[in-house]
Amino acid sequence: MTTLSREQLVDALTRGIKLAVTSLPQDVKDAIKQAYERESNPVAKKILSSIIDNFTLSEKDGIPMCQDTGTITWFVKVGKDFPLIRELESILQEATRKATKVVPIRPNAVDPLTGKNSGDNTGRFIPWINWEIVDGDDLEITVLPKGGGSEYTSQLRMVSPGLGIKGIKEAVLKTIFEAGGKPCPPIIVGIGIGGGADIAMKLGKIALLRPLTLRHQNPKVAQLEEELFNELNSLGIGPMGLGGDTTVLGVNIEYAHRHPATLPVGIVTQCWAARKATLKITPNGEITVLSHNIPNIFSIKLLGE
Ligand code: SF4
Repeated sequence: MTTLSREQLVDALTRGIKLAVTSLPQDVKDAIKQAYERESNPVAKKILSSIIDNFTLSEKDGIPMCQDTGTITWFVKVGKDFPLIRELESILQEATRKATKVVPIRPNAVDPLTGKNSGDNTGRFIPWINWEIVDGDDLEITVLPKGGGSEYTSQLRMVSPGLGIKGIKEAVLKTIFEAGGKPCPPIIVGIGIGGGADIAMKLGKIALLRPLTLRHQNPKVAQLEEELFNELNSLGIGPMGLGGDTTVLGVNIEYAHRHPATLPVGIVTQCWAARKATLKITPNGEITVLSHNIPNIFSIKLLGE
């Protein structure tokens, strides 16, 4: 049995980044198309139609759907026997640098104090890697290139525990109302409830990884997702903040048990360009794309091929 080489893995992950920035997952495309069908405001309908043209062309031509190709975050679920596990961190950095050149994607990693751009999307703790070590020898990996405009309006709210679900709803509605058109709506809202300040924000981002077609398995949480979806859309912010029926494409919630005295709510806003790609990679180099209906990652052309 041949074993996957470092070079092959770097190449596959680079193609994964290209897939993410050029092609939306099917659930997001479907949600935008459904919003277009439902929308009653003519300006909003026109904007949604332009967004559909945008993602259709970017997929067809293999070019990024937005000039802001985001900051790269990796969600790694790796089997403890995956052959390249010890090198994986440097492989993810190398794939990020390579993608910056060959996709290409915009260099978006700057020193937070000096503002100096590293030029290759890497830097201190960036790309950020979320690690999960599991049994087995496969690698399941998601890349989330998240735009700065939508990250800008994400917020942590510490809700008084006595307010319960009512307080959670108020926190979310206030955050999205204040965000207005800044995060390029229609948006997806990832919400993390409980845990602690850091955990709530992280859960909010993890919630964005769940397809929009799946409601949370806890019926109470699923109901809250549905209610917030309807209430946020009744705010009337609309596509790009110019009014309309469509402010959010979906609301996904994750939760953790919390301290009795604290109810943190992490609200993570994600623009319509909700880019992500998930690959499953076996030790002998078999690669399956889990997020998109594309059977072979190597059919995605990189610059110069
Ligand atoms: S918020 Fe999203 S759609 Fe808007 S500029 Fe940033 S990446 Fe692009």
